[in-house]
Amino acid sequence: MTLPPDFLLSQSSLQDYVDCPRRFYLRYVRRLTWPAIEAQPPIEHERHLQQGSEFHHLVHQHELGIPAEELTSAVTDLDLRRWWRDYLEKRPPDLPEARYPEVVLSARVSDQRLIAKYDLIAVDVGRRAIILEWKTYRGRSRRTWLAGRLQTRVYRYLLVRGGSHLNEGEPFEAEQVEMIYWLANFPDDPESFPYDAAEYEADETYLTSLIEEIKGLREEDFALTSDDESCRFCRYRSLCRRGDQAGDFKEVEKMWDLDDQVEITLDFEQIAEIEF
Ligand code: SF4
Repeated sequence: MTLPPDFLLSQSSLQDYVDCPRRFYLRYVRRLTWPAIEAQPPIEHERHLQQGSEFHHLVHQHELGIPAEELTSAVTDLDLRRWWRDYLEKRPPDLPEARYPEVVLSARVSDQRLIAKYDLIAVDVGRRAIILEWKTYRGRSRRTWLAGRLQTRVYRYLLVRGGSHLNEGEPFEAEQVEMIYWLANFPDDPESFPYDAAEYEADETYLTSLIEEIKGLREEDFALTSDDESCRFCRYRSLCRRGDQAGDFKEVEKMWDLDDQVEITLDFEQIAEIEF
């Protein structure tokens, strides 16, 4: 299948492809909206999505320099207040001074554009770069699960491939990069993933082969997942004849990363501007 030149791939779309090729096809190639809830009760599911979004917005504003006291006075939701208080007291210490919140990086991989929008990159030029991702998971994610996520692989890889403008024109060495997941519900126990040249090489090989595989498929070859369980939390389940009942929202994050469900909405021109 020929992907259009302006077709953007992200960790989110590639994760969808790995989880279910049909979901990738329906969501990103056909761009099919489908009127179904993803988890029930929908009001609880939506509330959690909203809380996650508000928490990211708060931290972004803080990183842009708005004083914490000013932001704190506007927080009324109890969960959000707790996350925000813990963020102020327990976020990773000793971060480099140069901060790039919500920065977007991109690079061409197998002739397609791969992009990532980071919550925060903190840089000590010539020495190290820390990727911070804020997660509002209800449950504690296993380290092995996080390590295997496309986000962990794509974010570290793209910072080495496409982050030289954050390092005075010099590409970061893989060993200078570290990724930290700060978990709002487990503020004393973040997960850290250093990087090295061998992992970078492995990621490049893997991502290239994954994208080649997608481009090699005919439209009818995007298979339905064999994991019926994940279909309970997928809006396309009636279309795929995989049931009509949404799963319990308390279990949805076992299947999908809710902090990662907001699609990147940059257009091609914006991405081109940050090409180097
Ligand atoms: S319902 Fe199941 S098979 Fe269909 S797109 Fe969703 S996850 Fe894939």
